[in-house]
Amino acid sequence: MIFSNLYIIAMEKRKELIVSAIENGTVIDHIPADKVFQVVKILGLETVSTPVYVGINVESKKYGTKGFIKVADKYFDPEVLNKIALVAPTASIIEIKGYEVVRKQTVEIPERIEKIVKCFNPNCVTNKEHDIPTKFRVKKVDGKIRLVCHYCEKYTSEENFEFL
Ligand SMILES: [Zn+2]
Repeated sequence: MIFSNLYIIAMEKRKELIVSAIENGTVIDHIPADKVFQVVKILGLETVSTPVYVGINVESKKYGTKGFIKVADKYFDPEVLNKIALVAPTASIIEIKGYEVVRKQTVEIPERIEKIVKCFNPNCVTNKEHDIPTKFRVKKVDGKIRLVCHYCEKYTSEENFEFL
């Protein structure tokens, strides 16, 4: 009995930690567990000075396991958030103000993206000249994302995404 009570307390504590609220900021939820660090990169979170909480392999009723990111005191442009759809189309974005959810939305795949992914073609001008940023049209082929390079017209497909 004592042991099971202790266990319950430990579980409750753990849950508390997992859901520990931020007063103001953005939560990116339902990220596939293996894509969390790519999302960190897309949002440029390595350089922010506000607290960032990252959860990986968190249990999720809907997806088995998932990841989340909470960024205190920061809100992002929809354009930036939609880049997340490239790696985590299931992600949801929750904006929090004064501990309350003020906005909840899903991400949408953008039509064009710039700078975040490398062109797969080693001979592309964006790989030869470092001051030319990458630029792509986003295409969906059989449910998979393909990026068509603005400069060399070559495809970069999902499995070849290399984030800059
Ligand atoms: Zn190219």
